[in-house]
Amino acid sequence: MTWKRFGGPRGRRRLMMATGLGLVGLLVNLFPIPLFSNIQLVLGNALFIFCASRLGYAAVAWCALLTLTGLYISWGHPIIYLTFGLEALFVTAMRRRGWYLLYADLLYWVLIGMPLTALLFATLFDLQREYIAFTVLKQGFNGMLYSAAASVAVLMVPKVWSKGLRQQPVLVREFRHKLSHALVLLTTLMLMVSLLVYTSHLMRAQQTLLFSQMKDNSAQLAGQFDDFLQRHMDALTIAGHWLPDVRVDQRTSLLQLQRQYPDFLRLGVTDDRGVILVDTDPGAPLRSQSAENAAYQSAVRHARPYQSAVYAGGVGGLEPVLVMAAPWYQSDGNLGGMVEATLALSQLHQFNDLDKTQKMVLMDQRGRVISASNGLPLTLLQPAKLYIRKPETGEHAAELSLTQPEIPLPEYFSKSYTMNNDWQLQLLVPYRPAAERAEQQFVLGLGMLLLALVLTSALTRYLSSYLTKPLENLARAIAQPELGERPLPGLPSGSAREILVLREELETQRQAIHAHHEELECKVARRTEELAQANARLEQLAMRDGLTGAFNRRYFEQQFETLRQLCLRAGQPMTLAILDIDHFKSINDLHGHLVGDQCLRAFANTVAEQFGRRNDLLARYGGEEFVLLLPLLDRENAQQQLNALRQRIACTPMAQTDTERALMLTASIGVISVDSQWSDCAQTWLDAADKALYRAKSNGRNQVCFHANLQEPNKNPAVSLENTATPTTGTKGSG
Ligand code: GH3
Ligand code: MG
Ligand code: MG
Repeated sequence: MTWKRFGGPRGRRRLMMATGLGLVGLLVNLFPIPLFSNIQLVLGNALFIFCASRLGYAAVAWCALLTLTGLYISWGHPIIYLTFGLEALFVTAMRRRGWYLLYADLLYWVLIGMPLTALLFATLFDLQREYIAFTVLKQGFNGMLYSAAASVAVLMVPKVWSKGLRQQPVLVREFRHKLSHALVLLTTLMLMVSLLVYTSHLMRAQQTLLFSQMKDNSAQLAGQFDDFLQRHMDALTIAGHWLPDVRVDQRTSLLQLQRQYPDFLRLGVTDDRGVILVDTDPGAPLRSQSAENAAYQSAVRHARPYQSAVYAGGVGGLEPVLVMAAPWYQSDGNLGGMVEATLALSQLHQFNDLDKTQKMVLMDQRGRVISASNGLPLTLLQPAKLYIRKPETGEHAAELSLTQPEIPLPEYFSKSYTMNNDWQLQLLVPYRPAAERAEQQFVLGLGMLLLALVLTSALTRYLSSYLTKPLENLARAIAQPELGERPLPGLPSGSAREILVLREELETQRQAIHAHHEELECKVARRTEELAQANARLEQLAMRDGLTGAFNRRYFEQQFETLRQLCLRAGQPMTLAILDIDHFKSINDLHGHLVGDQCLRAFANTVAEQFGRRNDLLARYGGEEFVLLLPLLDRENAQQQLNALRQRIACTPMAQTDTERALMLTASIGVISVDSQWSDCAQTWLDAADKALYRAKSNGRNQVCFHANLQEPNKNPAVSLENTATPTTGTKGSG
């Protein structure tokens, strides 16, 4: 499908849009607006520029093809497809890169369009250099005008019209770029339109004035030619009256007359049948050449003046001349014949030569050149070739060329005037000076446009410093990561009031946010602290026994291996003891659980005081049983210290009874103290200590019993448990 080229499933709608725009462009281009001479304003191209703002290459190319066909029909040069087609593609490409249409088009004309057009004009057409320069400049100007128009259309036309069809990116720009673009657009359009209106009005007025001057001049010049002919005819008529009175030498009199009227090439007198009686030319024929002419004969018969058609005569027979004759009368009053003369016409242009601004061509009834200003490419007595570009109308001179049949440019403005004798007078005013005036207007206008653009950019800069710079500063300040700590920067003096208000507002907001932020930070710090404390408590709870504050059994199990490794590295033995309070049940029974709890706390404290080294570990193993893990303690020291503990327990009052008496108790201790390599299993150690404890209990309590020092935990049965203290039965002071 062809429309697939126009971009996927929406291709068909894009094709329709491009076609619609292209057809409108074609219609507009069929009627370019005439400015002056052959300079025309093209506006239809705005449609493909507009198309470039929305659609892709294929669609724009199609739209341009349609639009340019309209231009081709009205101009007839196929090169427009090249110069304007490239323009369409270039603008599409630049628009895709995010350029504004106007700037893209300006760039095209400066870089490619104008040089290319100049090159093509210079190679394809035979045109004057200044004309090429001007046309190329006009082309660029025209391009700017229609791209400005297209840009305005882009701003005006609702976006929904091309909804979903867009292939060009949406332009997201800084405000100051938008501002400068809008101002440049406005300036360009306003200046160009006013320049065009002004120039074309001025040119029209100048041309009307020129034409009315040409009308006057041609009538005046034709009058002078009529006078010339009449004056010479009058001279002959008068001669006809006085010549018969000259009896002696008529020829001398004729020569005298010829001296007065040097344009008479010869003068002669004939009888009434045309036989020459006297002639200033000694070699004249016997009979007048005109005598055979019916008009001449009729003039003689009716005694009327006669004037022949223009023919080649004079010196060498190449000059346009005519014969004029007037009757002469004998002394009796009868017609004697004719006084005739050959009149040279080629110098008639001298009447016009005083006026340097115009030239002339005088032609006879048959269009042959009788006289022409010097320098014109015309041959006397040959039909004049006038290539007319635009014929004369009510108030406009004709535009014509004398040299080129296919005239791209006229050479002259011309005004024709038909004289009484049906001769044609063409008054010619060179075209170029008039065109130059228009070109100067145009170039002046372009200069003004450039100046205006410079001023616009200066104005944009000023407006930007007034409006957008402070906004940008504010935006930058807000974007800073340390916003909040420092106040917003002050704005440049002379910033817009709205922006000052905005800054104040933002500053207030900033302070509020900053205060809120600080409050939040305090709260978070407080919460974090509380959380840390809770965590610490939780950790304590997780490893401590709630009642006695000693470590719990789980913690003991965790730490067992760590402490054993410590002993291993040191190559030292380790001691593990299980402590069990004697007859504790009876304390509960006798004094109640609260007192029992108090005893447990006091018991744990007493043990902890005795074994307070850094690596000693006391854990409540369950009920009234505690376990002591004592790394780096050999059997001997263990025995000594544990016995000391046992004695300390026995003489430490653990609680107060209801009767205010101190409650004393004893404990039995089962110990294993061996090389730390002995076993890596905590339970094995506990079991061994438990067995020793059992011994202590069964031996009468309140004593320290050691498990035999075994090397192999599994070769267990032959254990030797030894008692290390004399047991004391009962609890001291328990009654
Ligand atoms: P023995 O000398 O054989 O060890 O006798 P005993 O009474 O100490 O031994 P037994 O195992 O029969 O009793 C232990 C008692 O310890 C039972 C229980 O009431 C008491 N007990 C265990 N845990 C707690 C506790 O947390 N608080 C209190 N007050 N008593 C406890
Ligand atoms: Mg027990
Ligand atoms: Mg007990």
